[in-house]
Order: sequence, then C-alpha cells, then structure tokens
Amino acid sequence: MTPISKLRAIAECKCPRCRKGPIFSGRIYSFKGQVTNEYCSYCNLRFEREPGFFYVSMFISYAMNVAEMISISVAAYVLGVALTYENLWAYIAIIVVGVFLFAPLNYRYSRVFLLHWLTPGLGYVPGITQDPKIKP
Ligand SMILES: [Zn+2]
Repeated sequence: MTPISKLRAIAECKCPRCRKGPIFSGRIYSFKGQVTNEYCSYCNLRFEREPGFFYVSMFISYAMNVAEMISISVAAYVLGVALTYENLWAYIAIIVVGVFLFAPLNYRYSRVFLLHWLTPGLGYVPGITQDPKIKP
C-alpha cells in the first residue's frame, strides 16, 4: 500500500507518524461533537504529547480566526455590502455568523497543523507497522 502524502494526511486529519489512524472521532459538523482521540488507532502514538499540549492550538486557531474574519469582511465588501457606518452592524453580524460556522473547522485543523507542522521530533515514519498491542 502506497503511503498518502503529507497534504492529504492533513486534509484527512490522519496521524502524523503513520498517516493511517484518524486523529478525531466524530464528524466535524455534528451535534455530538468531535473528539480528539487519545492514541492513534494504528501506531499507538499519543496525540497529546504532554499535559496542556493542545493549548498551543488556541494560538493557531486565533490566527485562523483573524484570517477568516478579514476574508469574510473582504468577501462581504466585494459582494456589495457598502463599507459605511450604517452597515457596521451588518458587517459585525456577517463576521459573527462566519466565525461560528468556521469554529469546528478551526478546532480540528488547528490541532492537525500543530501535530503535523509545529511539533518538533514528530514526523512521518515510512513503513511503520501496526502496534502489536492494538488488535486489528
Ligand atoms: Zn499513527
């Protein structure tokens, strides 16, 4: 079986070490919510590297939020919402709705970006086999 690319592993939220096990369980937009798995179901990598590890993803999520708010504002302007004082609440409403729609996506991908790009010493190990402690 050929390994998947790093970009595809990020898009599909797969483990950064084996690129086979899912990082999350649950769908991204569901009422039950999404849960970060504690361990990779294939190679048994612990996703939360140390206590409080995922606090760093808050900063990534913040940066993603700012980029999304700017993008939403520019999109609203391009789509015809005039940039006037009278439209201030319209812009705020559009931005707040956009932020709520993107929140689950930010939660998920901030953690994936942290694991794949910003964690030193954690990389892809080609040919890693399934952890024998895990029953297939
Ligand atoms: Zn894995």
